[in-house]
Amino acid sequence: MATTTVLWDIDSCPLPDSFGPSLAGRSIRSALKNSGYLGPVTITAMSNLHLNPRSASLLEALFSSGIHISNIFGYCLSLLFGWRMSAQPPATLMLICDDTTLEMLSEPLFRICDEGFTILVAHPGRKPVSADLWKTFLSVVSRDWIWESFLGSADDKDEALEYKCREMGYVSCEMCEFSGFSLKDLTTHFSSDEHLEEGNERETKTEHVGEQETSCAPRGTKRPAAHIGPSDL
Ligand SMILES: [Zn+2]
Repeated sequence: MATTTVLWDIDSCPLPDSFGPSLAGRSIRSALKNSGYLGPVTITAMSNLHLNPRSASLLEALFSSGIHISNIFGYCLSLLFGWRMSAQPPATLMLICDDTTLEMLSEPLFRICDEGFTILVAHPGRKPVSADLWKTFLSVVSRDWIWESFLGSADDKDEALEYKCREMGYVSCEMCEFSGFSLKDLTTHFSSDEHLEEGNERETKTEHVGEQETSCAPRGTKRPAAHIGPSDL
């Protein structure tokens, strides 16, 4: 049975306000199942956690629902290429993101479609200015949904999809090619010399730099997961 890998850009396509993050993993799996994608599903939530700091409670809820967490720098090309290196047709790739992110990824996605993979897309709604993107893109995307409608198609009573294998979750920092198995691993990584040095090399000077420094303590400083982003401070 074909596997489905979901890359979810929570920066450009966040959960609707009324939707509980602890249900996100089960709802995405259920909606895919209801649409006929019955194989194993892997979900990764991607965010530039420095530009868009997240509360620890949000990340913990997503992680607990069976969603991997990845800190990305720029668009999620490294995750896309990583998936391509390991996937074999007829695997399915689902992207959950807005038009802008999709446009940035369109060239590699066209190539992936040519190789026999299935591409699915959920998005917050098409903007009129992106009509050309959709006109060309729909020729290769097998199916697309409005994000909120996609979530609404889930069966929230499908207990069989309850994610119970937390130890299988992973976290990553694509900037440093770091991976770990808990949010604590990620916060510890954000405090490491490796991450700080990599960040200094790549960091563009924005007003968000101050936020990054707030959320990254020197190596060895024990900080609670709430410091993944300043919104809970
Ligand atoms: Zn890093």
